[in-house]
Amino acid sequence: MLIAGNWKMNMTRPEAVRLATEVLSKYSPTDSVRAAVCPTAVCLESVGAVISGSGIGLGAQNMHAADSGAYTGEVSAAMLKSVGCDYVILGHSERRQYFGETDAGVNGKVHQALSNGLTPIVCVGEQLHEREAKRAEEVVRNQTEGALAGIGLSDPTTLVVAYEPVWAIGTGVTATPEQAQEMHAFIRSLLVSLLGSVGTSVDILYGGSMKPGNAAELLSQEDVNGGLIGGASLKADQFLAIVEAAQFA
Ligand code: PEP
Repeated sequence: MLIAGNWKMNMTRPEAVRLATEVLSKYSPTDSVRAAVCPTAVCLESVGAVISGSGIGLGAQNMHAADSGAYTGEVSAAMLKSVGCDYVILGHSERRQYFGETDAGVNGKVHQALSNGLTPIVCVGEQLHEREAKRAEEVVRNQTEGALAGIGLSDPTTLVVAYEPVWAIGTGVTATPEQAQEMHAFIRSLLVSLLGSVGTSVDILYGGSMKPGNAAELLSQEDVNGGLIGGASLKADQFLAIVEAAQFA
């Protein structure tokens, strides 16, 4: 299980350090659940210093696909690695929606992350109108196959996929445990056909208004192997309550 907090574009550096310190002060590591926090790029190094050695992983929210060069405003995989990142969220729906990210673009970033020793958390998920038109699986299939084209893995822990139905992100509306399991099982079958048997052990996170009150039920589904948490990850107690729920799921 992996519980990762996506802090999005929230908090100045002192605020991020304060939240990381609070998370750390109440966190007890367990073998069954990994926790990670994903602050903004400018806070990675200071948050990383707070959680260093604690077992809590550090993740970025995006990166560029190129090694380096004339890409003003961008950050490379090697830069993220050099400030201690373990993970990088790629293809989040907000990046697809507001910054024009495409499956091909996400695929380039996934290759680059893997070759730099970063574990990509690849986000996929349909919009409400696509679910209503019964196109949810088609959309998730295209996103998953597009993002993972040409990827070969020997170690399943080097890749994470997050199913995040767009209609559930930041809305307070959660997929039911049955809806989540149904899509996670579908993604599992895609991972096995794309990656072979290693695909059976890649963690598939659920994301979309996961909170302490609904986490246990979602996380107890067979193919739900953790959560990508937005709003609730900005409160240490709520984030840690979800980490605790994962221990008993
Ligand atoms: C997210 O943006 O990844 C997310 C899951 O957000 P929230 O938990 O706020 O719905």
